[in-house]
Amino acid sequence: MKYNFSAGPAILPKEVIEEASNAVINYNNSGFSILEVSHRGKDFVQTMEEAKSLVRELFQLTDDYEVLFLSGGASSQFYMVPMNILNDEDEAGYVNTGVWASGAIKEAKAYGKINVLASSESSNFNHVPKGYDIPENLRYLHLTSNNTIYGTQLHQWPETDVSIVCDMSSDIFSRPIDIHKFGLIYAGAQKNMGPAGTTLVVIRKDMLKGVNRYIPSMLKYETHIKGESMYNTPPVYPIYVSMLTLRWIKKMGGLTEMEKRNKAKAKVIYDAIDRSNIFSGHSVEEDRSLMNVSFKCKDKQVEDEFLKICETEGLDGLKGHRSVGGLRASIYNAMEIETVKVLAELMNDFENKKG
Ligand code: PMP
Repeated sequence: MKYNFSAGPAILPKEVIEEASNAVINYNNSGFSILEVSHRGKDFVQTMEEAKSLVRELFQLTDDYEVLFLSGGASSQFYMVPMNILNDEDEAGYVNTGVWASGAIKEAKAYGKINVLASSESSNFNHVPKGYDIPENLRYLHLTSNNTIYGTQLHQWPETDVSIVCDMSSDIFSRPIDIHKFGLIYAGAQKNMGPAGTTLVVIRKDMLKGVNRYIPSMLKYETHIKGESMYNTPPVYPIYVSMLTLRWIKKMGGLTEMEKRNKAKAKVIYDAIDRSNIFSGHSVEEDRSLMNVSFKCKDKQVEDEFLKICETEGLDGLKGHRSVGGLRASIYNAMEIETVKVLAELMNDFENKKG
């Protein structure tokens, strides 16, 4: 048996993988592979529409929001957001919660005045800053809802009237959100939504008013809004698989059910950490992520030994990111609680042997 704890590209529901593989042979009974059909053909146009309408339904979007499936990864949104929203003299607030947030800050500095309102860098991003001032004149406040590397997550949104722009790459569709707080949300597909290759952008149209620089067509949100995510050839297969995953989320009971499942799974593994004398978590307790559990052994040699055992037992992808070391269990939507229990039991057994 193999268990996939990878941080991304990551686990997808088994039935999605099966259906996706069938479509490689015969897409929608068209007699063609999805890999060889036109994006302007009726089957794919329908797929794109269904994908968008599932996003609308799951997030309960009102008509003032647009849904885009772009390419270029979440990293491209680090510059597309400020390029499309900020004039040189405009100010935006950013909160630095790790490598990805820092990347967004770095890129944004080329397009406006960037005010880093808070940072958890001095404690190696083991928490999410709270209680910082949010000036009212900001064009937007940029947050990263889940910090994939450190295993921290925002469990409460800051109280503000400033529109929030949020990188939700590693916790999109993992819980209900109050969409009206957000001017823009973006997420690379490859954790909770589909394979790598497409990036979801949900944008409130009023965010786009009044930027006076030249923006290349491909990097302009308005181009993709007008072109309905088909201005150029979109990433057909990643969008198709994302649509299948969105169907699965809806069938399972939507975002409320995803949150319930994710809380139950996370509890199994955080309980194992809290019981342990060998393992300890990276994040402070109140900011613990329901998606990525970052932890370590007090002794590096013991940690290597545990990782070896995981490998032998078929638990894959548990090595932590190089910037924090240790271990990381990514337990996205598609992971079943039974798999998390396998890891928790392995931790217990290991501890008993060591003790
Ligand atoms: N933001 C977050 C929170 C991420 O976890 C990642 C990737 N792991 C990125 C941005 C970068 O995404 P991409 O590789 O799609 O550019």
